[in-house]
Formats: sequence, C-alpha cells, structure tokens
Amino acid sequence: MRVQTTSLPLVLAIGGHDPSGGAGIQADIEAIGANGAHAVTLITCLTEQNSCNVQALHPVEPQLLSRQAELLLADSPADAIKIGLLGSLEAVDFVAALIQSHPGIPVVLDPVLTAGGGSKLAGTTLQQSMREQLLPQCDLITPNIPEAISLSGLDSDATPEDCANRLLGLGAGAVLITGTHEPTQANEITHRLYRTGVPIITSQCQRLPGEYHGSGCTLAAAVAARLASGTPMEQAVASALDFTWQSLRYAFQSGRCQATPHRLYRLDRSRQGVDE
Ligand code: PLP
Repeated sequence: MRVQTTSLPLVLAIGGHDPSGGAGIQADIEAIGANGAHAVTLITCLTEQNSCNVQALHPVEPQLLSRQAELLLADSPADAIKIGLLGSLEAVDFVAALIQSHPGIPVVLDPVLTAGGGSKLAGTTLQQSMREQLLPQCDLITPNIPEAISLSGLDSDATPEDCANRLLGLGAGAVLITGTHEPTQANEITHRLYRTGVPIITSQCQRLPGEYHGSGCTLAAAVAARLASGTPMEQAVASALDFTWQSLRYAFQSGRCQATPHRLYRLDRSRQGVDE
C-alpha cells in the first residue's frame, strides 16, 4: 500500500563515492536533502581516499549502471540531474546517452578534474569526451577557475570571461565560474554566472580560512535541488551559493586534512534554537 505523503522533487545524483563523506555522492545526498529535494543515486566509481587526498579510482562497470538507471528511472522519474565525478570514458558515454534519452530535465555538471588534495581525476581524453558529449547537454556547469581553463582548452592566462565564452560556445546553457581558486586569493571571492545573451551576474562572499573537501559537489547539488523544484536558474544559483558558504562556515574536521562542509548545519542550529 502506498503511504499518503506530500511529494518531494527528485534529483538524480551521478558521481563517485568518497568514503570520507566530504565529497561525492554523500555530499550530494546531504546537499539535495537540505535544499528540499530527495536524492536518487548512481555511483560511477568507488574511490580510495580520506580527508587528505584521493589515492585510487575504481570505475563501476557501465552495464551495471545501465541496469540500475533503467530500473530506477522507470520508477522514480528525476526532476533534475546532477553529475559529479565520472572516472572513466565509459561513464561519460553512459551519462551522455542517459541524458539524451531523458530530454527536458535540467542537468547540472560539476566538472571534477582534480581532487582538493591534488590528485588528477580526469585526464585530457576524458575531458575531451566531457566537452563533446556532455557540455552541449548541460543547463549549467560549475567549474572553478582552473577547471574552466582546462575544460575550455585555453591558455593558463585566460580570463573567466574567455573561458565562459568558450564553454557557452561548446553548448553549455550556463556557466557558473566559482572564484575560490582565483590567483589573487583576495579576502572577497567573486562568483560569476554567464549565459548567452544575458548580462553576467556576479556575487561576492567573504573568503573563509582553511581548505574544504566537497564544496564543488555541495554547490552543484544544491543548484540541482533548487532547479528540480522549478526555481529559475538565477535564483537557484544565488540560493545554492549562500547555502554552500554557510555549509563551509560551519564545516568541521572529520580527519587530519581538508574540513568537511556541514551541509546539515540547519538541523544543528534549529536543535540549538539559534536563528540564522
Ligand atoms: N567526487 C568525488 C568522489 C571526489 O573524490 C572528489 C574530490 O576528491 C570530488 C567529487 C570533488 O570534490 P570537490 O567538491 O572538493 O571539488
């Protein structure tokens, strides 16, 4: 018997598993839940990592992903799709085919190219495949500046605007370039949202001290959750940026190295009776 409930929008999160819980699918589940949606998940790869760095990736076989997707989406149609770490060319092929066969669903891609600890997570062939197969199907991509430079294939002195124009030209619907990795390391961080034919939107926030694991996953998953409930892109991005900043502000140390964003900070604060 079906339980009578109110419904929640569904976000299909596709990405890797990080056993430390800082990044990857666990980050997605928490951020999606905290932003008013329910996460259904497909895990593209398992990883060996802790809060310091990623040591190895173990791709899940694409046939298994296909069977999981078919069974899942026939039962739980997604209202948005969030893509994170892919980890293999086969996973890119699988995801490209999946979104092609489910048109009309907003797709957010966090192009995960390098781990916070420095390990490379996507080589040039994988990036080429993402560029050709995924970018044209994405409503939003959320690179930081090094990722934007790498994915756009431009020189290392390219500006965020150069990169965004190239990425929009390759077919991405919108490009949100986060400013955390800006070389100046200024106290104020500027995030920039680019869309074709629409003026750029910038937003500033205070730089927080320390290093965090999973901030990119948190941001992209929060935008996807907002899009899943029908929020327009501009507001979805603004509220996801604010949510991510708050999660970093309340981050905690679960290991020796990068801090874990506290995506469930609102639960703690409501338990303590603190107003935001
Ligand atoms: N997803 C997984 C499974 C990862 O291991 C990583 C980085 O190590 C990421 C995503 C990206 O993390 P971040 O949001 O810190 O860029």
